[in-house]
Amino acid sequence: MLQPIARLRHVLLAVLISFLVTASSAQQTPPKIDDLRPTLLFISIDAFRADYLATAPAPYLHKLAAGGVSGTMYPQFPSLTFPNHYSIVTGLYPAHHGIVSNVFRDPAFPDEKFKSSDNKVKIESHWWLGEPIWVTAEKQHQHSAILYWPGSEVEIEGIRPTHWEYYKKGPDPNDSVAELLSWFDVPTLERPTVFGLYFEDVDDAGHDYGPNSAEVKEAIAKVDAAIGKLLDGLAQRDITGKINIIIVSDHGMSQLSRARIDVLDDFIDLSSINVMYEGPAFGFYPRSPDPKRLIMQIQKIPHAKLISQVSAPERFHYSGSDRLPAYTLLMDDGWSITSKDYLDKHPRFATGGAHGYDPELPSMRALFIANGPAFKAGKKIKPFQNVDLYDLFAHLQGLTPAKNDGTLEVFLPYLRESAKKKAAAK
Ligand SMILES: [Zn+2]
Repeated sequence: MLQPIARLRHVLLAVLISFLVTASSAQQTPPKIDDLRPTLLFISIDAFRADYLATAPAPYLHKLAAGGVSGTMYPQFPSLTFPNHYSIVTGLYPAHHGIVSNVFRDPAFPDEKFKSSDNKVKIESHWWLGEPIWVTAEKQHQHSAILYWPGSEVEIEGIRPTHWEYYKKGPDPNDSVAELLSWFDVPTLERPTVFGLYFEDVDDAGHDYGPNSAEVKEAIAKVDAAIGKLLDGLAQRDITGKINIIIVSDHGMSQLSRARIDVLDDFIDLSSINVMYEGPAFGFYPRSPDPKRLIMQIQKIPHAKLISQVSAPERFHYSGSDRLPAYTLLMDDGWSITSKDYLDKHPRFATGGAHGYDPELPSMRALFIANGPAFKAGKKIKPFQNVDLYDLFAHLQGLTPAKNDGTLEVFLPYLRESAKKKAAAK
């Protein structure tokens, strides 16, 4: 009696193994795509400083740049992660899209505080104004798939991308690429045409070890290898060169030093201000209704500029939002500011890198690489504002853009005639 059961088990096992092998080989060789509609993939490598590209161990980025258009972008003020990622996808200045810093308040929600590090608070819809490109796409009947881009987890105008994931700290770049590629493998009408992807590794290494460190080079190599896997994935699906790939960063990175620190309590009484955001773009509110004396004291702090809605240079667009802190003390490149107590307790403070400085500084410049059917090959583009990207994204996808602060004009000399014609026809 045992023998037939053993044989049955054997047969079942063989069937199971054959099923698993089929399933896994299906995973290894994805179906070819012969019905691709115009598709955009934008990728952010957080804090990839523009000048990293020349010496970076990044063969895939170099290849994409050589075969397309590359150059540098100006971030918006403050040169921080959340304001800039959201400017890229909305075409709006931070004061217009509402994410004015990584930490801010809004008088309309007096009991709340936006914090980019607070996963629960940051996904509340009321912080996120403007219209990101994936919402523009979904409203105009295109599917989007956006992985970890700031704002992609949030319901905006009641809409989320078709595919998205809650952000978790430290995703492996290869896992992110595998997930993104899996979203290609669906029937034509369900397949997204707007893809977005975010890598954080280069920012982490830059903060911890500084922009010139071996660790930053390692992080670049890691992200570049993942981009290589992404390109392999496109090749397996037979769509190499058929989608427009745009690789950007949100801002650069500056080297800090223990020899470049201003101690705040050498100049003011710490209890006289309410600190909103620490760092090179130090946002605060005076506690006194008549802060004249305090402002005079702060203006004496060296290696720093005091910015207010009245005195900010036009290019900072530091007006038009109740969320902007009353004042921002903007440090000179590579300088830090903190309290004596914090400095004493943190021996590693100001030993790595930071961003948040004046967007026009070379150290804050961001990366731009565009490669695909719409772009000419081997071209260097003049530096431009990152708010211009939203119009480009919309144009490439044939979408009507929402009102924004950017312009498509800067890209026209770098688009192939076929891609330019569509612009003229609109
Ligand atoms: Zn960033």
